[in-house]
Amino acid sequence: MSATKIVATIGPSCDTAPKISRLLKAGVNVFRFNLKHNTQKWHSVRIGRVREVSRQMAMPVAILLDLQGPEIRIGTFKEGKLLLRENDKVFFVLQSQSLTRQSRVQRTNKPRKEIVLNNLKLLESLKKGHELTIDDGKFRFRVLRKKILEVEAKVLEGGVLKEKKGVNIPNLELDLPTLVEKDFADLSLAARHEVDFLALSFVRQANDIKILREEINKRQIKAQIIAKIETGLALKNFSEILAETDGVMVARGDLGVELPIEQVPFYQKQIIKECLAVGKPVITATQMLESMIDNPVPTRAEVSDVANAVYDYTDAVMLSAETAAGLFPEKAVLMMKKISRFIEEKNPSPERINYTVKHQTSVMTLAANDLLQNDFCQREKIKALVALTETGMTARMLSRLRPKLPIVALTRNAGVRDQLLLSWGVYPILLPSPESFYDKKDHLHIQEFVKIIKKQGWVKTGEKIILVYSEDWGTPGKTSIIRIQEVN
Ligand code: PGA
Ligand code: MN
Repeated sequence: MSATKIVATIGPSCDTAPKISRLLKAGVNVFRFNLKHNTQKWHSVRIGRVREVSRQMAMPVAILLDLQGPEIRIGTFKEGKLLLRENDKVFFVLQSQSLTRQSRVQRTNKPRKEIVLNNLKLLESLKKGHELTIDDGKFRFRVLRKKILEVEAKVLEGGVLKEKKGVNIPNLELDLPTLVEKDFADLSLAARHEVDFLALSFVRQANDIKILREEINKRQIKAQIIAKIETGLALKNFSEILAETDGVMVARGDLGVELPIEQVPFYQKQIIKECLAVGKPVITATQMLESMIDNPVPTRAEVSDVANAVYDYTDAVMLSAETAAGLFPEKAVLMMKKISRFIEEKNPSPERINYTVKHQTSVMTLAANDLLQNDFCQREKIKALVALTETGMTARMLSRLRPKLPIVALTRNAGVRDQLLLSWGVYPILLPSPESFYDKKDHLHIQEFVKIIKKQGWVKTGEKIILVYSEDWGTPGKTSIIRIQEVN
């Protein structure tokens, strides 16, 4: 068990029931479905499979759907790839012109190199001198000249370019929509499967989150929104975005292309800190154990990267191709787990930062955590913080303080149970039948909760827990009781 949570991307390397089961056992808390790859049907089948395996093993797991968003990709090539040498001339076009008679004539001499960019707005916005990059910055181009629906560019950094790779144009503010047609179709998948999280790619401003929120409300989707921070604009508008979103992903893949790469670690740390202050979960993502795609052991630098994110108290660390397409998905998860456990043992409690205090729940959770600072709690064998939580808020407000005790969250809502799987140090339990938790006088039957926690092995007779809750349990933000409870 580790407090830092693991998000694993599903893909052909781990999508059978036995493999999913092994990853769950190894420590995956959230499966990420990246809608940039595969068909909706593919994802639908595997979401069902993950849920089924999780049910059979009685191990909860959350589902995160990662919407593609207004991502720009190149098209396909006749030969499946295109060789680009430095200083080659290439033409970015809206549609391949190799079928027109004119270019057929041209081809008899020397075929020109064409890259399809299926985005009219982008083609129109490109100007002489702009630099664009393809495939996570591996290929770079400078625009030389612009014609109607065609942009001529010079290769600055080449290689063998494969199809459908992503395009980044740092510093170009394109007026792209928040959600594209495909995302709307994928929202129906989210609704059908009642997914726990929806990640929004290429967020630029708070309004993007508002737009997605409106769409999911319309469809009565209960998922929480994860804002992927992967553009310079998102950094500039980060505070406003954080205020609107439910959680954040430091999407270092694209961020490392949109920004000078050396700036990424600085912003990663800053984002984690700001998320902690407000108690919204933050995922550190991309290339964490990249070399484990092909190797059973990571590099020292990668181990250090995971360790540092854990040390900074990220809520979760994420695996992408390592689990989706790599040779050692299970080993990658186990490695993350080992690193997290060791660092969590050694890590001192975080400095008391400027936590936002918006409601009663914030104050009460701060007070509950203060109790733990006292060695009274060690003498008294206090073993867990227990939150009764309707929306997950009380548990998240405890989690942001990164206490040294496990936070056991009791909830009546299966969706909230799954969403809390992403939060640092929170171990959610779904309560069976809510009615039995009130006694005849309509007071909460605390012993019933204690029984459940004891049954799950969190405490033994003679030990104690700190309960954080309110009698009137249904009103979020109104937590009112801190209670030290002995287990008998
Ligand atoms: P992606 O997002 O894998 O969907 O591109 C994560 C990232 O950019 O780091
Ligand atoms: Mn990305």
